Amino acid sequence: MTTRPKPKLNLRILILIFVLLAASVTLANSFWVMFKTQKQELIENALQVNKAYASRIAKSVEQVLNSDLDKLKYGSVVIGKAFDDKHALAGETQRLFGQDASFNSVLVADSSGTIIASAPESFRLNGRVLQHKEPLNLRVPRISNAFKSIAGNLVIFITQPVFGTKGEYLGLIGGSVQLEQKNTLQAMMDTNVRKDGANVYLVDSSRRVLYHSRPEQIGNITGKNVIADAALSQDAGVLQAAQENGVEMLAGFARVPSSGWGVISQQPLENIHAVLRQTMLKVAQGIAPLAFFGIVLIWWLGARISAPLSRLADCAKRLDTLDSYNLISAVPANYFETWQIRRALLLGATLLQEKIGKLNLQAQTDALTGLANRRAMQDVLLRWQDADRAFAVVSMDIDHFKRVNDTFGHGVGDQTLRAIAELMQHNSRSNDLPCRVGGEEFVLLLPNSSLQAATDVAERLRASIEAAEIVTVGHITVSLGVALWQPGGDSVSVVLERADKLLYQAKQDGRNRVVAQQP
Ligand code: GH3
Ligand code: MG
Ligand code: MG
Repeated sequence: MTTRPKPKLNLRILILIFVLLAASVTLANSFWVMFKTQKQELIENALQVNKAYASRIAKSVEQVLNSDLDKLKYGSVVIGKAFDDKHALAGETQRLFGQDASFNSVLVADSSGTIIASAPESFRLNGRVLQHKEPLNLRVPRISNAFKSIAGNLVIFITQPVFGTKGEYLGLIGGSVQLEQKNTLQAMMDTNVRKDGANVYLVDSSRRVLYHSRPEQIGNITGKNVIADAALSQDAGVLQAAQENGVEMLAGFARVPSSGWGVISQQPLENIHAVLRQTMLKVAQGIAPLAFFGIVLIWWLGARISAPLSRLADCAKRLDTLDSYNLISAVPANYFETWQIRRALLLGATLLQEKIGKLNLQAQTDALTGLANRRAMQDVLLRWQDADRAFAVVSMDIDHFKRVNDTFGHGVGDQTLRAIAELMQHNSRSNDLPCRVGGEEFVLLLPNSSLQAATDVAERLRASIEAAEIVTVGHITVSLGVALWQPGGDSVSVVLERADKLLYQAKQDGRNRVVAQQP
């Protein structure tokens, strides 16, 4: 049989490992799913908020521009009727400039592009020629992209054509909006600054930034930028894309129809990750006490489940001990497997005890006669001695037994020994112990017996053997010696020797007699 090393793990640890593993897998899984859905939801939400925001601003810009166009339209009608009247032109430009904060300057140019009236006067624009001739050529209401003005400012130029009373083209009236100065557009954009980390910007069709929540960006032309491209080419929408600098952005965008500009509201994806991290941390913090309580509970349950099994395992090691049956019975069996194992162990313990009992009995019994053997006698004597229990020893030997063997054979000799053993049992009380201690030598131990009583028993036994008719053999006799052991007296071995000597005395005296020690 190969011996396997004893396993280091016990059931309790195994249960704990198993449950912890299962719990962590489930927890990790739910965490992952929560993280994924949460992230998707946050992204989707951010995209939609950005889109709604961009659309709202685009609408407001559109309104501001339309209102500016309307104001200029009104002016163009007024001056169309008096294009030659320098005072009227100056009056109208002054009125348009002064009536509100829509324009940073207002001017009138003739059909060749020469400025013939302007406000404020401090700009000294009169007599200069327009840089951009497209409005003159197109002769339609127009909102320009941003450009550097004569005065070096970044401006957009909003124009209306001026026609005379007969419908002839006379020139244009225009208002400039300086992007870095205070004006209606700027004020409107400023009131819409987002405070949640998202930035908002407005680009013209050449991707120049007209407005930005970070003002230093104003005037820059954005580089290759898919988000700005989308904003300029589509009406409204959302886009998750990397910027030029590699930063992944969540953007919503919308177009300003009258000018062809685009509004973009965007925030870095990293913002979402930061929010997510916070959320997941909160979830983890919420779960922690519960998880701790769970582990304690599992530990306790593991102990409850494994305790009976480990007690049974302990009992299994000691099945051969006398109290094993009681120990096993005391183990609680509150689930099927322990109940089954306990039953099997109880059965095993019973069988083992029976077997041990049989073996003990065999070891203590004389096989031929069934009487106690010398070892059993010695055990009993030791116990009686320990218990200070007085006893008498009757030592007995068959007379001339050799002759029985010689005459009738060994088999008949054995049969005779059995017959003598039966007679001994007949002549003894239940507490007496008849033993066969040698070939044809016997001892009868009589607990709590006086010398006289033992002598009487010996005499009765001798007489009954003498009287018995033994099959084949007929009559035989025995010689007996009687000695007494008392607490505090001679040792047991001395008393046994004494009984043997008295027996020898009986042989000497002529056999078939009892010799007892002197009282
Ligand atoms: P004594 O009266 O002096 O006792 O004479 P004895 O012949 O009995 O002599 P002893 O006690 O020495 O006898 C021993 C004999 O007992 C020798 C042997 O043949 C016989 N014997 C011993 N053990 C057994 C046994 O188990 N079976 C049989 N059949 N005979 C045995
Ligand atoms: Mg003998
Ligand atoms: Mg003999």
